[in-house]
Amino acid sequence: MVTPFYSLTCTKKELIAPNVYELRFEKPATLLFKPGQFLLFNVPLVANPADIQPRACSIASTPDEQDLLFVVKLKQGGRMSEWIEKSLAVGSIITMKGPFGLFLLRPNDHDILFAATGAGIAPFRSQILHSLNAGETRTMHLFFGVRNIEDLFWHKEFESLQERHNNFHLHLCFSGEHANVSGETGRIQKFLPNFIKNTETTDLYVCGAPEMVADIKKMGLETLGLPKQNVHAEGYI
Ligand SMILES: Cc1cc2nc3c(=O)[nH]c(=O)nc-3n(C[C@H](O)[C@H](O)[C@H](O)COP(=O)(O)OP(=O)(O)OC[C@H]3O[C@@H](n4cnc5c(N)ncnc54)[C@H](O)[C@@H]3O)c2cc1C
Repeated sequence: MVTPFYSLTCTKKELIAPNVYELRFEKPATLLFKPGQFLLFNVPLVANPADIQPRACSIASTPDEQDLLFVVKLKQGGRMSEWIEKSLAVGSIITMKGPFGLFLLRPNDHDILFAATGAGIAPFRSQILHSLNAGETRTMHLFFGVRNIEDLFWHKEFESLQERHNNFHLHLCFSGEHANVSGETGRIQKFLPNFIKNTETTDLYVCGAPEMVADIKKMGLETLGLPKQNVHAEGYI
C-alpha cells in the first residue's frame, strides 16, 4: 500500500521551553493514526529550499483531537531545527507522509511504566490521553525527565490527569545539578525501579534521546529483569 502525503497548514508555533517548540497543524479527515505513531516531515534546507529531506516526528495529539500536535527539541546545526527556527511560520503549508511506526501500547493487563526525556514525551501524551479517555484501568506511571524546572512543558496537563485518574501517576525527574526544585532530584533511572511490583506483568516504554533510551532499556532488561517482550523503545536518532 502506498503511504499517502498530506499538505498541512501550520496553525501554531510556540517556544514552550528552551530550544523546544510546540507545533500544531490542521488535521485532514483522511489521516488516521494510532497513538504512538509518527509522521515524516518533508524538510527543506533553509539555504536551498529545493533540497528536501524527511525527518520523523511523533504525533503527540490523540486520534480524537482536532489538530495534529508535535513537540520538537532543536539540535544545533540540524536541518529540521534550523528550518523550524528560521522558516516555519503559522500559515506555512508543509508536506508530510505517514503514519508510520509500531511503538504502540500492547493490549494486555500489565502495569505500564513510561520513561521519556524532553520531546520523547510526545507519543506518551497521545497514548496516555487516548487510553484514559477510553476508560483505561491499568496502573500507569509516567517518568518525565528534564534537566531543570525551566525545561518542563505539558506537565500541568499530566498533573490534571493525575488528579482525575487514580491509576495514572506522574513523576517529574530533574537531572540538573542545580535543578531549582524542592525535594529529591535525579535521573529517571533512580526512581523507576521502585515502581516494578512484578517483572512478568510490567511493561516498560521508553522514548527520547538515543543514549537515554539505550540506557533505560538495558537497565530494564539486565538489571531489573523485565522479559524482552515487555520492553518497548523508540530512540530519537
Ligand atoms: C521515530 C522517530 C520519531 C521522532 N520524533 C521526534 C519528535 O517528536 N520530536 C523531536 O524533537 N524529534 C523527534 N525525532 C528526531 C527527529 O526526527 C530528528 O532526528 C531530530 O529532530 C534532529 O533533526 P535535525 O534535522 O534538526 O538534525 P540533523 O540534520 O538530522 O542533525 C542531527 C545532529 O547531527 C549534527 N550534524 C548534522 N550534519 C552533520 C555533519 N555533517 N557532521 C557533523 N554533525 C552533523 C547536527 O548538528 C545535529 O546536532 C524522532 C526520530 C525518530 C526516529
